[in-house]
Amino acid sequence: MNIEITKTTSPKTVPTDNLGFGKIFTDHMFVADYSRDKGWYNARIVPFGNLSMHPASTVFHYGAEIFEGLKAYRRADGKVQLFRPIENVRRMNNSAERLRLPQMAEEDMLQAIKELVKVEERWVPHKDGESLYIRPFLFGNDEHLGVHSIVNATFVIICSPSGSYYAEGINPVKIMIEEDDVRAVRGGTGFAKCGGNYAAANRAGEKAEQLGYTQVLWLDGVERKYIEEVGAMNVMFKIDGEIVTPALTGSILPGITRKSCIEVLKSEGYKVSERLLSIDELTEAMENGTLEEAWGCGTAAVVSPIGQLFYKGKTYTINNNEIGNVTQKLYNKLTGIQWGKIEDTYGWTVEI
Ligand SMILES: *Cc1c(COP(=O)(O)O)cnc(C)c1O
Repeated sequence: MNIEITKTTSPKTVPTDNLGFGKIFTDHMFVADYSRDKGWYNARIVPFGNLSMHPASTVFHYGAEIFEGLKAYRRADGKVQLFRPIENVRRMNNSAERLRLPQMAEEDMLQAIKELVKVEERWVPHKDGESLYIRPFLFGNDEHLGVHSIVNATFVIICSPSGSYYAEGINPVKIMIEEDDVRAVRGGTGFAKCGGNYAAANRAGEKAEQLGYTQVLWLDGVERKYIEEVGAMNVMFKIDGEIVTPALTGSILPGITRKSCIEVLKSEGYKVSERLLSIDELTEAMENGTLEEAWGCGTAAVVSPIGQLFYKGKTYTINNNEIGNVTQKLYNKLTGIQWGKIEDTYGWTVEI
């Protein structure tokens, strides 16, 4: 793919403090257009700025939007690397397939990510735990209100330097199990990384926030009986020595961190089961003390220990509200590989 690069004439000063998450953006962005006739065209890296869009654009009315999230990490030797980017590329195309948005050749999408990170190299932070968050997104962009299959689309990648998720240490989070709203159902879009799933989650998220919980743990959309995932993370439990994580039944986002955790745990000899886990089994394990650890896993936090679960008016405390051994081990292993501090024996990292 030919990517035309236009550099900004007024590069910003790269901030080094209070990066937070998703508030600061780099100097450039990648944009490509698609039409059914031409395929992908006009791939370009241009100065970061607003998008000009027709008010009837499909995405504003019918929600045809998907996205990805990955990071560029600064290694100790100063070089920059990505973590399993091909997995993000493939998931993007799987999400596109579900929403009938156009797919992009794997090598082209990977090239777009790499070239943008190369252009923005100086924005990849140097401090421990910090990274450059990369957000590719793709939306239907037809300029009329008829409900049709999508003919025009736009692919954009923006980058945002982000601070350490654990600037104040790895503190276990408090999570509310939602009993009313559901996030996704089998046959729906739960396995696709699309904005619509987040829109559907807003109401429960706000309720959790008001009650003092950080995130929502979703139950399945049909029986509200089986554990699915947390907000923007997959979820894992250590029950009586066995690591249990909900199976990918179609309504759960297939996380790359989830997959990596499973691979690391299996190679270290743990018993890992991807299976159905009912809320009854979980509450029983919390009551009889066999729930040893619980954690969420996703690109943003890597792993996030769960210290408290709230369900049907009852609060359960897990592992004394402390990070558990397996959670800590996974954290060390994955962040070690991502920031190039330990050897990547899995071949997961890609140097820029
Ligand atoms: C992105 C995401 C995850 C985590 O996926 P990773 O690839 O590990 O970052 C989990 N659940 C949802 C709903 C997500 O959008």
